[in-house]
Formats: sequence, C-alpha cells, structure tokens
Amino acid sequence: MKKRVYLDHHATTPVDPRVVEAMLPYFTEKFGNPASRQHVWGWEAEQAVERARAQVARLIGAKSEEIVFTSGATESCNLAIKGVAEAYAGRGDHIITVATEHRAVLDTCRRLEKRGLRVTYLGVDSEGLLDPDEVRRAITPRTILISVMWAHNEIGVIQFIEEIARIARESGVLFHTDATQAVGKIAVDVGAAGVDLLSVSAHKMYGPKGVGALYVRSGEPRVELVAQMEGGGHERGLRSGTLNVAGIVGLGEACAIAEREMAAEGERLRRLRERLWEQLRNELELVRVNGSLERRLPGNLNVSFAGVEAAALMREMGEIAVSSGSACSSAEAGPSHVLKALGLGDAWARGSIRIGLGRFNTEEEIDYAAGRMIETVRRLRERSPVYELLRETLGARGNFL
Ligand SMILES: *Cc1c(COP(=O)(O)O)cnc(C)c1O
Repeated sequence: MKKRVYLDHHATTPVDPRVVEAMLPYFTEKFGNPASRQHVWGWEAEQAVERARAQVARLIGAKSEEIVFTSGATESCNLAIKGVAEAYAGRGDHIITVATEHRAVLDTCRRLEKRGLRVTYLGVDSEGLLDPDEVRRAITPRTILISVMWAHNEIGVIQFIEEIARIARESGVLFHTDATQAVGKIAVDVGAAGVDLLSVSAHKMYGPKGVGALYVRSGEPRVELVAQMEGGGHERGLRSGTLNVAGIVGLGEACAIAEREMAAEGERLRRLRERLWEQLRNELELVRVNGSLERRLPGNLNVSFAGVEAAALMREMGEIAVSSGSACSSAEAGPSHVLKALGLGDAWARGSIRIGLGRFNTEEEIDYAAGRMIETVRRLRERSPVYELLRETLGARGNFL
C-alpha cells in the first residue's frame, strides 16, 4: 500500500476546516456585496470584510485601515512595486531587490526595466542571506524602493528584515517585503520591523486560494501608491473590483488561527523537521541542507542528494509530495535561480528538493516519507553510472561541499 504524504506546503496549504466553516455562510445566505450601502445584505458583507481586515491587521501589528485586500501575493507585489514606481516617477527610477526573490517580484521588476527603470539585483551568500551592508551600498539618490522577501519560499531562510528596513528608512527609500511565507509562520510585526509595504497570501497559511493582502503603512512620510486596477474605487481606490467576501473572511480566520497557534505549531514543525533531517543525514551519504539552518522557517527543509536527479527522485516517490524549485516557476529548466545564487555546484543543485512541512503532518508521516526518500535515493544511486566517480570527487570534501 502506498501512502500519500503532502510535504509541499510552500506551494500551497490545505484550507483549515475551521476556515472553511467561517467562509460557508458568505456563499449562501450572506452573499451580499459590501459595496451595497443601501441594505442589510450589503451591511452584513461589509461587516464581515471589516472584521477580517482587523484580523489580518492584528496578526502583523498593523491598523485595519492599512490593509488592502487583493487576489493574492502576486497581485500585492505587483501593486506595491508598480504602484510605487509610478507614484515616485518624478523623484527617481531605481529599485533594489535580490536575485533570489519570487517571480512575483522579479518579473515585475523586469517589466519596469522595460519601461526604463533601473533595477539592482543583489546576490546572497552561500547561506542564502543578504548582507544589509550590500543594500546600503546599492542605494543611490535615484533609489525609490527596496524589495526583499521576508522568508524564502524555496530555502526557507529568513532575511535581516529589521536591519534592511532601517537602512531604507535612513535613506528615505520605501521598503516592501514579500512576506507570503513568513506571515502566520513566524512573528511578523510591521511596526517593529519598520516596513512600508508588505505582501500576504491566504493560501500559504491554510486559507483559500485567490485572496491576499497588501499592507500599506499609514502616517508620515506618506506612502504614495498608484492603483494598478481601475474601476469602482474599492479599497480606498487602491484596488477596484468587488471584494471576494468569502475569501477575505477565510483569510481573516486563517490569520486569527495563526495568531493563537503559530508559536506552538512552529515548535512542533521544527521538531518534525529535525526528525526528518536526522534520518536523512544518518542514513545517507552526500546529503546537505541548502540555506542557513539557523535563520529558517520551522517547516522548511531544502536538501540536496548528490548524484541524484531531483526529477527522477520525485517521479519514483510520486506519492510523497515535495518539489524542486518553486511551484510558481516550474517552467524553469534545470536548477532554480535560487540555488544558483547560493553558488551550489551542479552535482548538488541537480539533486535538490524542497520539503515544506505543515499543520496536519504527523510524526508517522514524516518517518514514512523519510524511509521512502532514503530507499529511493539509494536505489537511484545504485543505478547511476556516475555515482561512484562523483562519490570519490565529492566525498573527499565531506558532506557539506
Ligand atoms: C506563493 C508565493 C507568492 C505568490 O502568491 P499567490 O498568492 O499565489 O499569488 C509570492 N511570493 C512568495 C514568496 C510565495 O511563496
């Protein structure tokens, strides 16, 4: 009997049953449009949206009026980056970001380059971390925005967000962070961190797909944004379009649950991850973790098995859901841009998989998945015509090339 185990929670998460429960009435009896100001259906829907807005705000230490609902983190990143680029066109034309960002940020920046803006893509060290001093050095009088992901969707590393935000503030440059993988997993406080714009997605935190939020700091100096969607002027003119009420209620509930359970859940996931890594490390030679193990999301493990092709590994253990690279850039041929940025050698990069543990994974599932990985890696290596040779070259340099 082959058991299915889902370990791809950075791609998406199941919707928590409590979230589904909260959403259900907003498809049926409470179906109103929150923009309908004249009747009780509208009021009811608006109340639900405002409650959700407060729940999202509370989780990240923001005020309700600083939350703009969107269709997800891709849209939030687009709105933040393009919105700032347009609003500050008179002041500057330079953006700083990181080579390892999600494509929601990278491709948005590339689009802006086509419009004539200049973008600096900073590198990371072998641990996947960005040196805040590099950010400081990259700032010019023309810089209007810095965008750095809070926690990484492939390698799980957590950047020095407070330091980078401080540098941005001292230089009078706005700071956006794609916090899609951080919110609901680790403590995120927009005030303490000093960020101006922050992107969130519901489906990475046990909420539904197709809904997210952008935090836009209020107060002085004002963050100016040009809307990227024209229409009825919803969300204070920043994002037109009838609100996805049920989805927004789901995002709100997901945030409320995360606020209560995040700390304990993080501890549990960290233990499960350690249990998994221990088994892989003890049973296999030539395995390594990619990215810092210290500054890392509790549920993430990105491992490389030298001499194994990730695609073959995933095919052979198809009922264990892991991924190579990110689901969002599955069109990428070969090792991901992220592993390349870490300077990972080809033999390691080709055999790397991303494992994302989540809320409903059990110890039993982890042990089972570890067993399947170990047995499959061994089998593939036995079949490989080059493994022995690779072992001689890499082995001399130990497990952690
Ligand atoms: C999933 C993800 C996105 C895209 O979010 P959607 O809500 O699916 O558009 C952006 N950034 C990161 C880091 C992600 O993990």
